[in-house]
Amino acid sequence: MKSTRQLITLLVFGLSCATLFAQQNTDQSKFRQLGVELPTPNTYRTASGAPGEDYWQQRADYDIKVELDDDKQRIIGKETLTYYNNSPHPLSYIWIQLDQNVVDPESNTYKTKTNKLSEKMSAVQLNAMVDNSFDGGHKIEYVKDALGKALKYTINKTMMRVDLPVTLPAKSGKVVLQIGWSYNINDRLNPALAADGRGGYEFFPEDGNYLYTITQWYPRMAVYDDYNGWQHKQFLGQGEFTLVFGNFQVAITVPADHIIAATGVLQNPKDVLTAEQIRRFEESKTASKPVVIVSQEEATEKEKTKSKEKKTWIYKAENVRDFAFGSSRKYIWDALGVKIDGSPVPTVMAMSYYPKEANPLYGHLSTEAVAHTLRVYSKHTIPYPYPTAISVEASNGMEYPMICFNYGRPEKDGTYSERVKYGMLGVIIHEVGHNFFPMIVNSDERQWSWMDEGLNTFCQFLAEQEWMRDYPSGRGPARNIVDYMKADKSVQNPIMTNSESIIQFGANAYAKPATGLNILRETIMGRELFDYAFREYARRWAFKHPTPSDLFRTMEDASGVDLDWFWRGWFYTTDNVDISLDEVTEFRLDTKNPDIEKTLAAKAAKEKLENDVTYQNNKRDLAQVAVERNPALKDFYNSYNPNDITPIDREQYKQYISGLDEKAKMFMEKNQHFYQLDFSNIGGLVMPLILKFEFEDGTSTVQRIPAEIWRLNDHKISKVFAFEKAVKQVILDPQLETADVDIENNYFPRKAIPSRFELFKTQGFGRNGPQNGSNPMQQAKQMESKGQGKN
Ligand SMILES: [Zn+2]
Repeated sequence: MKSTRQLITLLVFGLSCATLFAQQNTDQSKFRQLGVELPTPNTYRTASGAPGEDYWQQRADYDIKVELDDDKQRIIGKETLTYYNNSPHPLSYIWIQLDQNVVDPESNTYKTKTNKLSEKMSAVQLNAMVDNSFDGGHKIEYVKDALGKALKYTINKTMMRVDLPVTLPAKSGKVVLQIGWSYNINDRLNPALAADGRGGYEFFPEDGNYLYTITQWYPRMAVYDDYNGWQHKQFLGQGEFTLVFGNFQVAITVPADHIIAATGVLQNPKDVLTAEQIRRFEESKTASKPVVIVSQEEATEKEKTKSKEKKTWIYKAENVRDFAFGSSRKYIWDALGVKIDGSPVPTVMAMSYYPKEANPLYGHLSTEAVAHTLRVYSKHTIPYPYPTAISVEASNGMEYPMICFNYGRPEKDGTYSERVKYGMLGVIIHEVGHNFFPMIVNSDERQWSWMDEGLNTFCQFLAEQEWMRDYPSGRGPARNIVDYMKADKSVQNPIMTNSESIIQFGANAYAKPATGLNILRETIMGRELFDYAFREYARRWAFKHPTPSDLFRTMEDASGVDLDWFWRGWFYTTDNVDISLDEVTEFRLDTKNPDIEKTLAAKAAKEKLENDVTYQNNKRDLAQVAVERNPALKDFYNSYNPNDITPIDREQYKQYISGLDEKAKMFMEKNQHFYQLDFSNIGGLVMPLILKFEFEDGTSTVQRIPAEIWRLNDHKISKVFAFEKAVKQVILDPQLETADVDIENNYFPRKAIPSRFELFKTQGFGRNGPQNGSNPMQQAKQMESKGQGKN
């Protein structure tokens, strides 16, 4: 090991230890507790992170009748909304969300979107910047009370205030409203109209049919709660939804040849399904693999004609925060009954609906991925409590209670790239996973994207790694967040930023919180403490409205681990992890034994002369020096060698040894190697020190030091380690688990780390490398058809 070597002299009067601590302003310590950052606990939300004794939340029940006009691509609906005021405050008005107004021509989304022209642009790109001509938005026909009397309402962009003629009493108040509305459905694939990026229609020119995903479609109650009052921040497109729990009854009228996928349970199967479809559905409940209820042949046959008849599908859903549905005559449909340990539902129906364009990929994997997601998430949070979980293929990714829309289309020849396969699986797991966050653990998405996206992306990572051992997960592993963390701070903001103001949305709201949770689980808390506390958070806040502090507090309360430093660093700042192992100094004990020390000293003196250039060159060039020419110049010191061992040395050594205590004698006998490691914190975030010591004999050992080692000085620290064997190399964070952005300074002695470009060159393409859209499945198929394939 190349390091400075120094000797330690054991003091005869015992080891004296005088440690000087750097004086710090305690307000600046990275370990100061999260005091002012968190809201003061109260009887609604306790200091432990659990709901308090006076916790309350509102409730909204909906009875909706809606018709989908397949000729004009319109929605026409009327709803009876029953709103329960459980709050301790009387309410003289209520706020309702009109999310379709995000594509109203006067939408603030169009107005506040920034853009720039460039010399080369596609018409689609240009159009997306300037076209607000679509006649979108909720057209409110009426707002009435239960008796049909018109109520005064005021529309402020995506929010509508309804003034109540009689103040809604606190704690027990209930009001019934009737609302009639309609809107034009947007083309989901047109970027100019994808302001909400979530629902709409897709048109298939080859067969002339539409596939609808109907979302944010009915006037929805805004949330009134104990920490926002009304959450009525405008919907601009990025910050998603904050919604109230309640019960739904929805009657959906569509062309008679459509199949519907929806939140909740179908109440009138005999009116809308054939006897054979009902038989297949019953069979799927106990099947061991998905059962096809509407086959590809049946769906393709239906694409050829358009029924003029109508059918009404009636659904019920209990204790959900929203309702969405998909409708098309193109749908293939399969289902599989899943048993979830501890679920109140004996058999959860995992189901998929998809056009033929998504086969064979969707039919092969979608429903199995839904079932897998329910099992893994149930293990890590709460047992899935809803009767269905549906994945609809819709060339995008978006979540609603019990139903979500996910992409997954192969090439026309049925082959697909690895990227499409794992992209599809990842999106299905993610969107189905949203059932847990935020559909059940109902956080405020309009304010905090990370509370659902981050927690869900973390669980997605767990589920991906349980699907396949080397699943190429993009988000979760610490090493994958490094490029974002070390990027220019001007294009970063802390995780604790309002949803609409987040820059680099995917990295900030999905990847960084998910990675943080994974670091907590694998590196800081350990799986046992983490898993218990994370489950406790889900248990406490299932079917309730948690805030960030409820999560932060519960994770500490249930694990006994102080994580304030971690929340502060990872969630409230843009600091990154860059810990440098600056120096390793090796110390050996000074044995004082002249036979050892003087022999070593003589050897060192000899080596020094051998390496002295002047001494060596003079030896070659000068035949004689002065004392050689004139020996009379010599005295005692010309023949004295300080490294000669004398009887006096041996006597002094004897006396020294007899003066040492037992502990000191033990150290003398063990003759260990001592290493002082000096660290500095360059990035700002503190982290545990994971140290791998590689010894000269080829063996190694790993020591894990908690982050609290930084608690008295978060800039520079030193720590001593002792080993029987000599160390050759020390590596900090050998498994890349702390997202350290510069690993060159993690090695002592330093080691050149290949750049990402060099790695790319040496690794080539593969599972973990970019594929550049290549499709090996297609190539193999072509080889096979040419007779060049493997046998
Ligand atoms: Zn998501």
